[in-house]
Amino acid sequence: MTEIQTPLKETTDIIIDEGGEALKLCYQCGLCTGVCPWNRLTSFMVRKVIHKAQMGLVDFESDEIWRCFGCKACVDRCPRGVEIPYVMRALRRVVMEVGAGIVPHSLRITEKNTSAVGNPLGEPPDKRMDWAKDLGVKTFARGTEILYFPCCYQTYDPPTRKAAVATVNILKKANVDFGIPDNNVVCCGESIRKAGAESLWQRLTKTNIAIFTELGVKKILVTSPHCYHTFKDEYPELGGNYEIVHLSEYLAELIKEGRLKFSKPLVKKVTYHDSCCLGRWQGIYDEHRQILASIPGLEFAEMRDTREYALCCGGCAGRLWLETKKGERPSELRLEQVFELEADILAVSCPYCMANFNDGIISMGKTEVVEIKDIAELVAEAL
Ligand code: SF4
Ligand code: SF4
Repeated sequence: MTEIQTPLKETTDIIIDEGGEALKLCYQCGLCTGVCPWNRLTSFMVRKVIHKAQMGLVDFESDEIWRCFGCKACVDRCPRGVEIPYVMRALRRVVMEVGAGIVPHSLRITEKNTSAVGNPLGEPPDKRMDWAKDLGVKTFARGTEILYFPCCYQTYDPPTRKAAVATVNILKKANVDFGIPDNNVVCCGESIRKAGAESLWQRLTKTNIAIFTELGVKKILVTSPHCYHTFKDEYPELGGNYEIVHLSEYLAELIKEGRLKFSKPLVKKVTYHDSCCLGRWQGIYDEHRQILASIPGLEFAEMRDTREYALCCGGCAGRLWLETKKGERPSELRLEQVFELEADILAVSCPYCMANFNDGIISMGKTEVVEIKDIAELVAEAL
């Protein structure tokens, strides 16, 4: 016998209040489920989650709340333009902010770290800029043209940090007037906001905006698509308005203007992974390909599932901080596409992609097969 369930309007109203308004548009066609990367690996019926949210029958203790990577593939396919990642964020806010359900342990630790010391890794804030101490780079002061803001991962995590070091070396070679922040800045908050911790995001954002205002920051260069997204599209919500440039855009411009000239060939076969946050969310696809095409000796090859159809690495929307079981990781599926090409290097332009793919080649025993490098590292090596 079919169980008849009564819609709980109050619950739906709370989800809408937390930013899930878009759920009203859904007419249950199911195209989102068909395109969601989870279903290449296991089963995740996002259409059903939206339906439960419409009915107010969400199980806030279920891991469904935390599944979405925020990859946006479903939004691009949805005939009603339902912004599913924001509906999923609203469900997470009901858990994180309103207190229903259970926050996964690893995410709770990440939230606590970010709240206590201003970075998700729980590293000492007074060591935030230690990565740059031998690079001869100045701290941003009023009047400096560009603030280069590396993400928390790039400041504390040695493999990911290579992109920040390469960026500094490139900017110095091109005689760019730039500075880095001091230790007082905190995480941009993008990931923790998508994980539902709205009040923490607001606190972090107010801290950074106060520092940027004090210093008269106008233009911010970033190497993380996550910093890019929140600085550009979300900081204005709290009064922070700056020109935000991703390194890929800036490098393409420097090369076009002749301010960067390559002198060393890089004789390698390279493919490129479009990060969801820079690709589908921001439409930045061409710059990376232009940069790679301009490096002498480099052979570029496209993977299957590229540009708008790129497969997520699995690290967006707070998923970097959550455990994904072996066999269910989209990063490993993506790496299979790299192995098919027999590429020497997988180029990325996101610290989360780098972290996930580095983990992937270790867990798949393929560290000798392919290297994961940020575009900045490849450019710096060829100068
Ligand atoms: S694709 Fe859009 S309209 Fe169709 S079920 Fe998914 S959210 Fe609803
Ligand atoms: S944003 Fe990506 S991971 Fe999230 S439901 Fe849509 S397709 Fe699935």
